[in-house]
Amino acid sequence: MPRVYIIDAGYENVKEKLKPVLCNYLHSAGPKSVLLKPNLLAGAPPGKAVCTHPLFVKAVADIAEEMGIKVAVSDNPGVSGYGSSLKAAKDSGLFELVGEKFENPAQSPERAGVKSGYTDSFVVSGNILHAEYVINLPKFKTHSLTLFSGAVKNMFGILVGGEKARAHSIGKSRDEFAELLVDIYNIRVPELTVMDAIWGMEGSGPSNGSMREINKILASDNGFAVDAVCANMMGLKPEEIPYLRVAKERNLIDYEEIEIIGNPEVLKDFRIPPTFMKRNFAGSAFIGFVNSFIFEHFIKGPARLKLKRKRCTKCYVCLRQCPVKAISKDKEEFPLIDKKKCIGCYCCDELCPENAWRHTGIMRILAK
Ligand code: SF4
Ligand code: SF4
Repeated sequence: MPRVYIIDAGYENVKEKLKPVLCNYLHSAGPKSVLLKPNLLAGAPPGKAVCTHPLFVKAVADIAEEMGIKVAVSDNPGVSGYGSSLKAAKDSGLFELVGEKFENPAQSPERAGVKSGYTDSFVVSGNILHAEYVINLPKFKTHSLTLFSGAVKNMFGILVGGEKARAHSIGKSRDEFAELLVDIYNIRVPELTVMDAIWGMEGSGPSNGSMREINKILASDNGFAVDAVCANMMGLKPEEIPYLRVAKERNLIDYEEIEIIGNPEVLKDFRIPPTFMKRNFAGSAFIGFVNSFIFEHFIKGPARLKLKRKRCTKCYVCLRQCPVKAISKDKEEFPLIDKKKCIGCYCCDELCPENAWRHTGIMRILAK
């Protein structure tokens, strides 16, 4: 039975609080080296709760090093391009704390086979793929496309450069992308997940939501179990998170069979992304029917986004990173989404450094 530890902590005492649990896992496995895989989505500073907090990563690294274990830290950020990984590590404050332990994941690209209905391989970071022992360090965050960005979603970062865009372009709908996330997670299942849920994010995650103080660390050797406990903390059933439903359908986990050590408190009035609607608002059979209709007809459609022109600096990150090249420039050189091409992946919103996209209207409904 998967076991999830929930530890009350703040950034000032991560090491002290996490040490007994982490030492136990590492003693049992006895690795000589570990690779830490944080969430370095966009190189945002620690005060924004976008990336795994550098103090959190450092605490895990220190515990492992004190046990005589060699430590490396690596992640592919959301923005692809030359030097993007190191830039994200520097901008997030991580590089300052882990220094030479940071490995550029773009320097070891390797094609790895994947069991998937969408493709037979992805180019991944060889240093993560072949690491002796991977410690997955996700951040507790909502996500406009996937609802939650936890343990499973964090391993999407094993994909190198433009492969993330390719994944979006071949798994176009929310459900297709959920299937792909589980496929990709299975390329390199991490030995351990230790989630930074000290400061998390609610609302329009994974980069433009609101910070939420949670003061928890979650640890388990089963990433699905960690995300399932997080679902409950957000007031959801695990199956309401699309990729966790896929995991259940594939018999990768039974959500009734998770042992929880600690206090998984339900977060009061937790705000899921505006792109999803909580079940309690969609309780009646009629509304459920309408939900399904809207889901089937609109979920696969374009993102409901409107540009906040006053915020846009015309940096064109969105234009460059759109996986299906659905963004061009209008007459005033502002980004313009072609709704016929857009697949609703929300990468433009996720990667915009200025939070210049506004969600308009409800377009996705929870749990089929
Ligand atoms: S919307 Fe955001 S990412 Fe796109 S050009 Fe404007 S500021 Fe840059
Ligand atoms: S316009 Fe935005 S939401 Fe639409 S496909 Fe491009 S990146 Fe994704």
